[in-house]
Amino acid sequence: MEKKRLLILGGGFAGLDVARSIGNSKQARAYWDTLLIDKENFFQFNPLLPAVAVGAVETRHIVYPLRDMARHRHIRFIKNKATKIDLERREVLLHNDLVVPYDTLAIAVGSVTNYYDVPGAQENTRPFKTIVDAMYFRARVVELFEMAEQAETEDQRKKLLAFVIVGGGVTGVEVAAELIDMVQNRLLPKYPNVRRTDISVTIIEVGDRIIPAARPSHSAYVQRFLVRRGVRLLLGSAATRIEPKRIHLKNGTTVEGFTIVWTAGVRPPDVVAQLPLMRIKDGRVRVDDYLRALDPAGKPVENVFVLGDCAASLRQDGTYQPALSQTAIAMGLHLGKQLVERAKGRSVPPFQFKPAGYIISLGKNSSVLELFGIPLSGRLAWLLWAAAYLIKMVGLRKQIEVGIDHLTHLLAEHDSSQILNRRQILSDEELNLSLGTGPHRRGEAVGSTAGKSQDGV
Ligand SMILES: Cc1cc2nc3c(=O)[nH]c(=O)nc-3n(C[C@H](O)[C@H](O)[C@H](O)COP(=O)(O)OP(=O)(O)OC[C@H]3O[C@@H](n4cnc5c(N)ncnc54)[C@H](O)[C@@H]3O)c2cc1C
Repeated sequence: MEKKRLLILGGGFAGLDVARSIGNSKQARAYWDTLLIDKENFFQFNPLLPAVAVGAVETRHIVYPLRDMARHRHIRFIKNKATKIDLERREVLLHNDLVVPYDTLAIAVGSVTNYYDVPGAQENTRPFKTIVDAMYFRARVVELFEMAEQAETEDQRKKLLAFVIVGGGVTGVEVAAELIDMVQNRLLPKYPNVRRTDISVTIIEVGDRIIPAARPSHSAYVQRFLVRRGVRLLLGSAATRIEPKRIHLKNGTTVEGFTIVWTAGVRPPDVVAQLPLMRIKDGRVRVDDYLRALDPAGKPVENVFVLGDCAASLRQDGTYQPALSQTAIAMGLHLGKQLVERAKGRSVPPFQFKPAGYIISLGKNSSVLELFGIPLSGRLAWLLWAAAYLIKMVGLRKQIEVGIDHLTHLLAEHDSSQILNRRQILSDEELNLSLGTGPHRRGEAVGSTAGKSQDGV
């Protein structure tokens, strides 16, 4: 019998589990000719990105090579970007004009940053979605401390060390918590000219509380935790326009920030947004109980499945499954099982999933979590957070590496080496930005002046 062509787009939380399920079953491997396509050749463990951004976990330790997985599971993998999906012709167009036909398609391409058409947002803020975003963020923070150390006035230091995070959801809060811990407890003691009052971290959130997805008592706990550490919270504040280094709010005020990070939301990638399918307000594709995409009339499209962050699966209470890694994993496992059972001529019950809860890391030694309805916060919650993510890491090697990172971070001094070239981290405008003049370097900009004092800048 000729094998059926199964094409999996995206090797993230959802796609990886579809591929692994097929690879683990001899019968499924004999039935399906499976091809996994991802624009990267690695899987990235997003929940640990904030930890990477402050150097608590090493960059490479949260990525896992998809090619290794494919080799061990006897499936094919290519690194390429899907640019168009033709549902009529049953083929996918790739970045280099390669056309890949399929019999069954699993779309699991995750999400991209949503700027909600706020003018200047994309140009003047930094996203926080990928391992590269996290890596550059860390390098930038350390580099700005190096510049602030050489600045001549308090105003200059304050300008350089003003960090603003737009979006007070889980990601924004985790980034702010890790950042404030890093700058105050690890970097500050190493930079004698920088004072605590020179640093500012601000979260701008449109809602009336941070982490709207968490229970209100946890939002209040995290709010107190951050404010105690000096984070400024601007709640009920919508960013309406962003200029270089300045955010305009709906109430007419502005907030200055040398580094502005945008964590306000996500949407499906363009390759999914273009599809003639039924979708909900946030752009996710409506799927039925078997994760099949629904057409605009609400009819399932045979053999086209959508899962993970780009899928909207209706729950019994009438709401949609949240776009979380645990939802993506559950969907990936369900579709994997469906396809394995299909190879055996059997079917599976419909998809049902109840999230176990949530875990929000607040930097070293603190977290809030809710697991199976039980809330917890503080040090024990942090230990559970670390243990839960260790267990979820893909492969023993990554588990060992991340485990050692956590231990080292607890016991040893923070490594503040910054190995990237300053030009890789700061824009030309930032390097040339005039921050005022001081008595010793009259007329020269801090960035460019400090730059001239180092090799390789
Ligand atoms: C900073 C951060 C922190 C997070 N923290 C948490 C957390 O603590 N808990 C939690 O539950 N969730 C968290 N999430 C959300 C979680 O990561 C997502 O819900 C989850 O990754 C969704 O899985 P997915 O498989 O749909 O997409 P992803 O895991 O994002 O995988 C999508 C894959 O598709 C690939 N791809 C994209 N476009 C294309 C294309 N056109 N062609 C080919 N390949 C493509 C990508 O390279 C990627 O490998 C976090 C996300 C971020 C960004």
